[in-house]
Amino acid sequence: MNKITKNGSDGRQNYRIFMVINSVGYVGIAVHLVLIPLFYWLGFPSLSCLNIFSSMLWISAWIVNQQGRHNPAIVLMTMEVMLHTLLVVPTVGWQAGFQYYLFAAVPFTLFNNKFDGKAIIFVSIALGLEFILLSVFTGDQPPNPTLSDGLVRLLDHANIIISFTAQCIISYYFRLASISLEQELENQAHTDPLTGLYNRRRMTDFLVEQGKLSALEQTTLSVAFVDIDHFKKINDNFGHECGDEILRSIADFIKRQLRKEDTLARWGGEEFLLLLPHTDIDGARVLAEKIRKTIAEHYFQIGGCEYAVTLTIGLCEHQTENPIEESIKFADIALYRGKQAGRNRVMCYS
Ligand code: GH3
Ligand code: MG
Ligand code: MG
Repeated sequence: MNKITKNGSDGRQNYRIFMVINSVGYVGIAVHLVLIPLFYWLGFPSLSCLNIFSSMLWISAWIVNQQGRHNPAIVLMTMEVMLHTLLVVPTVGWQAGFQYYLFAAVPFTLFNNKFDGKAIIFVSIALGLEFILLSVFTGDQPPNPTLSDGLVRLLDHANIIISFTAQCIISYYFRLASISLEQELENQAHTDPLTGLYNRRRMTDFLVEQGKLSALEQTTLSVAFVDIDHFKKINDNFGHECGDEILRSIADFIKRQLRKEDTLARWGGEEFLLLLPHTDIDGARVLAEKIRKTIAEHYFQIGGCEYAVTLTIGLCEHQTENPIEESIKFADIALYRGKQAGRNRVMCYS
């Protein structure tokens, strides 16, 4: 049994399929339960029996969906719509509008991403063919004589409203699916998969935006390059996976030291870039020193072992008349000087 969850790409897709079947299921069950006494009262006991069977089918499909088996649920519901339409329309008459549900069944079937293209085309053709054949053979015939004109019109209107509601529910979930997919792709394009931080591409946009803003508002702005010391040795001595774990931990660690307006990104391999708005070089130095010191005093626990890591940080206060790229270059120069001076230190560009 699949667990229905909102998390993860597959989980979200399953959750949407679950929700659309669940919502359409409520409509389907309610409609067929109402049709049992209605058809009996209208003088169609056989159709009343058909709707007892249909209600049971819809309830079963709804339960199957609750258990996480979405494919059989969709197949059951679509087959019921086809069978119901095939038996009800010739008996009651085309004018009563029971064929509209065939339209809603097409996007409903399409919602299941597990069906391959051929299955979707086959089901769509079958639904369309049923509609055309019913139209050809019953479209010109008068409605069942036991039904008054007013009643036929009432049934037609009710069927339009109900099938329209089902279409709206399905379209709503299609919309949700495409919006969340777009968001997911956008997040992926802007995020470093290892640390979850912004990547270099997104950070470049932030830097340019913030550079312009600080020039416009004449506020201070600093940038900091953070580089892990002798990181290659960590990889060489303890393995790449351990290195990855340390990168993740350091990213989390630095993030926790920042204010809300600061931005941290993974700039390259073991290099991070910090964007500090409304911060002059003295403020940046205090923050950088705090980060450096806490990391140097911390032991990272990975797989039962303890690791000590140090950072070298290069700082530059942005001069608003210069392009932001210049300040990044200067921070990088400061970082290089810090490495030359023996690492595990904060160096300001001057
Ligand atoms: P320095 O103190 O001069 O900065 O020395 P370093 O060893 O940190 O610098 P170097 O540029 O020589 O090596 C960087 C290392 O970072 C080499 C590379 O394998 C490692 N690295 C880069 N990206 C990743 C990653 O995503 N995961 C892991 N585990 N290692 C990475
Ligand atoms: Mg390094
Ligand atoms: Mg480096």
